[in-house]
Amino acid sequence: MKNKKIIVIGGGFSSLAAACYLAHAGHEVVLLEKNEHMGGRARQWKHEGFVFDMGPTFYWMPDLMEAFFQDFGKSASDYYELLQLDPGYEIVFGKGDRLAVSADLSHVYEQYERIEPGSAAFLKRFLKKAGFNYRVAIDKVIYKPGRSVLELIHPETATRVFQFVESIQSYVRRNIKDARLRQALEFPVLFLGAKPSQTPAFYCFMNYADMVLGTWHIKGGMYQLIQAQMDLAVSLGVQLHTGQPVQKIVVEHNRVRGVETRDGRFWQADAVVSGADYHHTEQLLPERTRNYSESYWNSRVLAPSALLFYVGFDVKLPEVKHHTLFFDASFEAHAKCIYDRAEWPERPLFYASFPSVTDEGMAPAGKEAGIFLIPLAPGLNDSDEIRERYFKQILSRMEAVLGYEIRSHILFKRSYCVRDFMSDYHAYKGNAYGLSNILRQTAVFKPGIQNKRLSNLFYTGQLTVPGPGVPTALISGKIAATELLKQLNKS
Ligand SMILES: Cc1cc2nc3c(=O)[nH]c(=O)nc-3n(C[C@H](O)[C@H](O)[C@H](O)COP(=O)(O)OP(=O)(O)OC[C@H]3O[C@@H](n4cnc5c(N)ncnc54)[C@H](O)[C@@H]3O)c2cc1C
Repeated sequence: MKNKKIIVIGGGFSSLAAACYLAHAGHEVVLLEKNEHMGGRARQWKHEGFVFDMGPTFYWMPDLMEAFFQDFGKSASDYYELLQLDPGYEIVFGKGDRLAVSADLSHVYEQYERIEPGSAAFLKRFLKKAGFNYRVAIDKVIYKPGRSVLELIHPETATRVFQFVESIQSYVRRNIKDARLRQALEFPVLFLGAKPSQTPAFYCFMNYADMVLGTWHIKGGMYQLIQAQMDLAVSLGVQLHTGQPVQKIVVEHNRVRGVETRDGRFWQADAVVSGADYHHTEQLLPERTRNYSESYWNSRVLAPSALLFYVGFDVKLPEVKHHTLFFDASFEAHAKCIYDRAEWPERPLFYASFPSVTDEGMAPAGKEAGIFLIPLAPGLNDSDEIRERYFKQILSRMEAVLGYEIRSHILFKRSYCVRDFMSDYHAYKGNAYGLSNILRQTAVFKPGIQNKRLSNLFYTGQLTVPGPGVPTALISGKIAATELLKQLNKS
């Protein structure tokens, strides 16, 4: 096989991963990112000495990140330092009512037993099952290209069929009565972008990732993983270009011939891999060559969008944790607004992160960096007034829980919401996390990894297999690159 010229669109985790695998196989790879900065949804914002990860903050499944680097004879530790958080995170149900998810499982069991006698025994059984499922998911499911249902048929998956019929919510609720413990066990699947009542019990492997593998922080923030991928890519010969929005994928005689960027430049390619949002990538193509129609996209269940605030505080804030989930409101009411009614929630759950509690590099000495996130239905109209209203609400709720006032300590804040996701990343309906991992949108039922009419066009990223999340974005890049390499090896 002669070395080929491959264009990769996008500078997020999936595109960077695909670029690394393709360059490692000896091809000439050029990556084109629309924005002036790399990282996509995981980009970083530095302001007045504060450092904010604008997207992902939970580093889960460290084994999968390690597997990525090992594919290149490297280790994550060659690029960054990992710190395990203890507690991994805390859930606040109201003033004085908190649940800390300790890095030490025996403490977690003790805490569960104290709240609900008998629940520790269930949790042990649950995590054992979750551990089996984790291995099955990693070894048999997650690295598959989603081309055929047969990929998923193994003795290990067949014996777990019933776990695809029951939801994680019903499984947990059959066994746990305490509302707080139920929420704690249902929370991890929210990372998959769907309601626990719609997520198969099989996905309890997320609880294994949470409680057994732990929550980690990269010193310097999640962006260090983007930086590591960039360093790796450059060492493998990938050419990285920022500020190069692709405006057209050029097609001739049922083949992709290259791409055109906004400045009118044509970039010739033997194949293209796009890690831009799937729906947007299709808009760059002639209509007859698109995989899916608008009505297909309209019928998809998207994972949430989000309203985010990045805030600099002029003091250290006593009692705040690295990650806190504010579950001091009705989860059901909020979930209905996201998934059933697509409207702004009255009193949403929210997430608060203070990475400078663990990592002094994230804020100037004596100050605190805060990130707040409210999950929302994608496609909502957002305005500055609405953003401000929610900011005031979450500050009041934080102050009520902390028992002291924080708003006078705000040095600056930046908000980010649906319209920013659309304009910055070309995100379909402003989604933050891609498509929901409900059963009918899992594996072979996700938007396909290859164009059906243009055999040299591949898709990667959180809207195709395996789905949303940092480790899964790395895997998606590997899958797209592997499928393209198989095809190139045949030609
Ligand atoms: C707020 C938030 C919090 C999250 N929290 C977590 C978490 O804690 N843990 C976790 O594991 N996951 C988390 N996620 C999910 C995770 O961040 C994503 O799944 C992952 O970053 C997606 O990577 P990607 O490569 O698929 O897409 P992206 O990062 O969106 O990359 C796509 C890139 O394509 C570029 N692009 C678009 N159009 C063009 C064009 N025409 N030409 C050139 N380039 C183009 C975009 O600018 C972008 O850089 C979070 C996501 C968000 C948004």
